[in-house]
Amino acid sequence: MGLVLDLRELRGPEHRVEHTYPAAVFAGGRSDEYAVAGSVALALQVRKDGDKCRISGSVRTVLSLACSRCLERFEAPGDLTVDLLYLPDTENRGGEETEIAEEDLSIAFYRDNQIDLLQMVHEQCQLALPMKPLCRDACRGLCPVCGANRNERSCNCDTTWRDPRFAALENLIGGPRH
Ligand SMILES: [Zn+2]
Ligand SMILES: [Zn+2]
Repeated sequence: MGLVLDLRELRGPEHRVEHTYPAAVFAGGRSDEYAVAGSVALALQVRKDGDKCRISGSVRTVLSLACSRCLERFEAPGDLTVDLLYLPDTENRGGEETEIAEEDLSIAFYRDNQIDLLQMVHEQCQLALPMKPLCRDACRGLCPVCGANRNERSCNCDTTWRDPRFAALENLIGGPRH
């Protein structure tokens, strides 16, 4: 099956989507923050209830991210847990939305009886991105003086930070030294 789930084609209330798609299908993600770097395995349960559709399960892939310290790209597993309630986009969303929100479910909307799983994967990846991705816990980052990647080489720049207020205080108390 393709990446668009057509609700009119689903017979009965429960369906499984178990399929692995090549990374190329997800190329050209809509974000600079990540790229899909490995095949994408979907294992989803689709439950239809009238015009509502709940999609839950897992999305497993490999994401390529940019380290927030050294700016190098690195790969990290993207193991996402999905639990979404899809509602038709045309529905009047007043009132009901608050009710559903109490169930602690994420709400998404579909149009024309179609749920775009490609878009769903991209949205879930986006949501799962760490605030400050790190290539490794001990990433040493870039030298603030010369810009060298300190994971790769060490430079001799003086990066000791001195509190200017403290320096001023030192002058006041100590006065000029002889
Ligand atoms: Zn790094
Ligand atoms: Zn340096």
